[in-house]
Amino acid sequence: MDGCVFCKMVKGEIPVVKVYEDEAVLAFLDIGPISVGHTLVIPKEHCARLDQCAPAMLGRVASSLGKIAGAVAGAMEADGYNVLNNNGRAAGQVVEHLHFHIIPRKANDGVFTQWPSFEYEQGRIENVAEKIRRNLK
Ligand code: ZN
Repeated sequence: MDGCVFCKMVKGEIPVVKVYEDEAVLAFLDIGPISVGHTLVIPKEHCARLDQCAPAMLGRVASSLGKIAGAVAGAMEADGYNVLNNNGRAAGQVVEHLHFHIIPRKANDGVFTQWPSFEYEQGRIENVAEKIRRNLK
C-alpha cells in the first residue's frame, strides 16, 4: 500500500534489521524497543487490522509467530515474553499494517507494571457475551 512504512520495509525501500523472513512474513527488530530484542512480526501483504486480514494470511503469520517468539526469548535469555497486537489508534496502533510485538521479559523488569482489571457488575458479563456472540454470526 502506498505510503505504508511497513510495506516499504517489505519492498526493501526502508532498511530493517531483519531476524526472519519467509514468503509471507518478515520479522525485524523494533527501533524503539521497550526491552532488548523487541521484535516486530508482519505479514508481507498489507492489511491494517487483525479483523480485516484474510484467514489464510493470518494462518501463515501465526504459523511462524511461535517459532520467532521462541527464538527471540531464547536469544535474550528471557524469563518470558509478551506477544502484543494493537488494532486502531485507541489501542495504540501507530503503523496501520498488522504487526505483532514480541517483547522479551525478565522477572520484575517493570516493563508493564499495571493490568487494570475490574469485576463485572451482577448480570453484565452475560449481556456482554451475548453482544459478542451476535456479532460472530
Ligand atoms: Zn503496509
